Amino acid sequence: MDQSIKAYIKQLVQEAVQHSPGLPGSLPTGRTQYVIANWKMNKTLQEMLDFLQQLKEGNGVEVVVCPPAPLLYPAKLYVQGQNKDIHIGAQNTHQEENGAYTGETAASLLKEIGCSHCIIGHSERRQYAQEDDATVNLKAKQALKRGLTPIICIGETLQQKQQNQTEKVLTTQMLGALEGIDASEVVFAYEPVWAIGTGESATAEEAQRIHAYIRAVLAHLDKENAEKVSILYGGSVNENNAKEFAAMTDIDGVLVGGASLKVDSFQKIIAAFAKGA
Ligand code: PEP
Repeated sequence: MDQSIKAYIKQLVQEAVQHSPGLPGSLPTGRTQYVIANWKMNKTLQEMLDFLQQLKEGNGVEVVVCPPAPLLYPAKLYVQGQNKDIHIGAQNTHQEENGAYTGETAASLLKEIGCSHCIIGHSERRQYAQEDDATVNLKAKQALKRGLTPIICIGETLQQKQQNQTEKVLTTQMLGALEGIDASEVVFAYEPVWAIGTGESATAEEAQRIHAYIRAVLAHLDKENAEKVSILYGGSVNENNAKEFAAMTDIDGVLVGGASLKVDSFQKIIAAFAKGA
């Protein structure tokens, strides 16, 4: 590893340790707390309507449901019609304004149909659609230009973790994603790839340590706003472990895959963060 990057990361790790000893937070942070459902390629129209009918509002937590693209508009119409304070987010967008990009969706269209957020750079898109940090950056810029809040996913693979590369990988992903972007306008989701869909989440203490590191990187980029950025954890969160994540100072919510498909589990995860909100 390049010596200057090594020194930079070492300094950030020290700052992160000073910032947070990894203890549960007791004071409110003032940051928005999110609980976000990433349904991936799951659910029918009827299943979505049943879910949204049963889903209760967040009680101080910003709840965002991200269904597959064809369900975005009916989802928005439904929550609007029911006057429910539930946000609808997309799982992806394209970096260009419009044009000959078969199968893609423009950020302007997502905004027009009522989306407020957009997941960007999910590890499945990095893996299956070869999205790199430069693409993530362009997509985040386009989302912001069209008034969507980007939820930027970062995270290391198991191999990178085993090789002690976590901080380096996260720093590279963050610097790449934020090129020319004001960090206070985005939400970060730390999603270790080894924890996604495996049933093996990071421990809350482990996640807190990494979140403090991410915040230290943000502070280097923008000291004033680093404390305002919501950093979510994602990776095998469920109704049993959500409380532990919610208790941590630098964990401002969760991005949930599998456990967001059942309304009862998802509601319990929201409740865990509503208590901490
Ligand atoms: C995800 O895909 O973003 C995710 C966190 O999935 P899961 O909760 O199933 O691990």
